[in-house]
Amino acid sequence: MTLPTSARFVVVGAGVHGLSTAAHLAEAGADVVVLDKGRVGGGASGISGGIVRNFYLSPAINEIVRQSVEIFELDPELFGFRQVGYVAAVPEAQAADLERIAQQHAAIGYPSRLSRGPDAAAAHMRGLFPDWRAQGITAVLHEQRSGWADAATTVAALAGIARSAGVRIHEGVEVTGFDLHGDTVEHVETTSGAIACEAVVLAPGPWIRDLWALLGLPAELSIGGGSTAPAFHYWQVREGDYAHAGAALDPRAPVVHLDADVPLAPAGEPLLPVPWGIYFRPGIGGGIACGGLPVALDGDCALDPYGPSHPSEGATDPSFDEAMHEALRFALGRFDAPGAWTSSSFSAPTCFTPDSYPVVDYVRGNAYAVLDSNHGFKMLALGKLAAADLLGERAPELEPFSLSRFEQSALHPVSASPYPWT
Ligand SMILES: Cc1cc2nc3c(=O)[nH]c(=O)nc-3n(C[C@H](O)[C@H](O)[C@H](O)COP(=O)(O)OP(=O)(O)OC[C@H]3O[C@@H](n4cnc5c(N)ncnc54)[C@H](O)[C@@H]3O)c2cc1C
Repeated sequence: MTLPTSARFVVVGAGVHGLSTAAHLAEAGADVVVLDKGRVGGGASGISGGIVRNFYLSPAINEIVRQSVEIFELDPELFGFRQVGYVAAVPEAQAADLERIAQQHAAIGYPSRLSRGPDAAAAHMRGLFPDWRAQGITAVLHEQRSGWADAATTVAALAGIARSAGVRIHEGVEVTGFDLHGDTVEHVETTSGAIACEAVVLAPGPWIRDLWALLGLPAELSIGGGSTAPAFHYWQVREGDYAHAGAALDPRAPVVHLDADVPLAPAGEPLLPVPWGIYFRPGIGGGIACGGLPVALDGDCALDPYGPSHPSEGATDPSFDEAMHEALRFALGRFDAPGAWTSSSFSAPTCFTPDSYPVVDYVRGNAYAVLDSNHGFKMLALGKLAAADLLGERAPELEPFSLSRFEQSALHPVSASPYPWT
C-alpha cells in the first residue's frame, strides 16, 4: 500500500488507543491513516495482560473504566473479553482506599461488593477459592463487571473495526519528524515520505518520549508551586505464564489482586521486601498468568526491540519466578501439591505521566495525544472520547486528563498501594 501524501488525521501507533481513536474518527466520516513503525499490536498492547478492573481511587478514571467495560460488553467474544470479575484483597493499610473505591463504584453504578475485617474478607475469598489462605488481609473488594481480555484478540478486533470503517493502516512506517509551522504540524515526516494533515494523533505508547522531543516539547513539566517533574517516567513490568503439574486455576476464576504486608518467607529468609503484591488470572492456554514487582527504570531506558524480544531487558531473573510461585502458594493452598512449576516470564518497559494518570489532550497546536499512562485496556473508551474531541466536542470526562492539570497542580489522588497503576 503506497503511503498517501495527505490525510485529515494521521494517527501514530497501532496499539489499542491508536486503533480505537482511528476507528471512531473514520466512523464519523473522517479520512484517517494509521502509521506504525512495527506492526499492529507490536507495542504494549500485543503483550498486555489485558486485565480490566475499576480498582482506582480517581473518580475520573472510575468513569472511563465504566465506559470501557460497556464497550467490551457490546461483543465480549469479538474483543476476547472474559467477564469473570476482579477481586482486590489488601491489608489494613489499604482498607480505607477500598472503602472509598467501593463508594465511588456505587456512585456511578459500577457493581462491587466490599468485605471488611479479616473474617469477612477470608469468607468472601474462600467462597471463590476454597483453599484461599493469604494472611493479613482485612479488606476485599469484588468487582463483578470486570475481568480480562485476551490482548491479541482485542487488538485484532480493533484493527478489523478500523479497517472496515475505512482506516488505512500502514505497518513498517516510522514517524521521524514533524514539519512545524509555528505551532502547527503541516506534515508528518516518515521513513516512507511526508504526509500533510489537519491533525496528528500521538498514540505511541511507551515511545511518547521520542515523539515528544520531535515536537519540541519540554522534557520536564511544571507541576505547580515552582516544582517540575519529568514529563515521563518508566517502570519495568514483569509477568509470567506459570503452570503447576499438580494444581490449576479454574478458567472462569476471577482476576485476583493481592497486596500483603506480611513477609513472603517460605524458608525463613524473606523473598521480597514488605509490602509486596501480585495479580493473577487464568492463563490463555491454561496455567496462570501472574505479575507484579515492577522495577523503576531510567527515563532513557531501551525500548527496542520491545518487551520479551529484547535480548537483555526483556528477560527476568529466576528469583522473579520463584517469588511468583511462592506468592501464589501464599494465596492458594493447592500449590502445596507435589509437582514442578513450568515458567515463562518476561519484562517490558512501561511509561507513566507525572501523576501516573492519562493525558488525552492537544499537546501542541494540532498535535493531539492519547497517552494512557499504562492503564491500557481498561481505558478503551479513551479512543471514542478522543475522536469526539478531535471532531470538535470535548466531553467533560476528558477534563481531568488535560495536559494543563500539571501546571495547575490538579493532580489525581495517590493510593496507598505500592504500585504506580492503582
Ligand atoms: C507486560 C504488560 C502487561 C500489561 N498488563 C495490562 C493489563 O493487565 N491490563 C491493562 O489494562 N493494561 C495492561 N498493560 C498496559 C497496556 O498494555 C498499555 O497501556 C496499552 O497497551 C498501551 O496502548 P497504546 O495503544 O497506547 O500503545 P502501544 O500498544 O504500545 O502501541 C504503540 C504503537 O506505536 C508504535 N510507534 C511508536 N513510535 C512510533 C513512531 N515513531 N512511528 C510509528 N509508530 C510508532 C509502536 O510500534 C506501537 O505499535 C500492560 C502492559 C505491559 C507492557
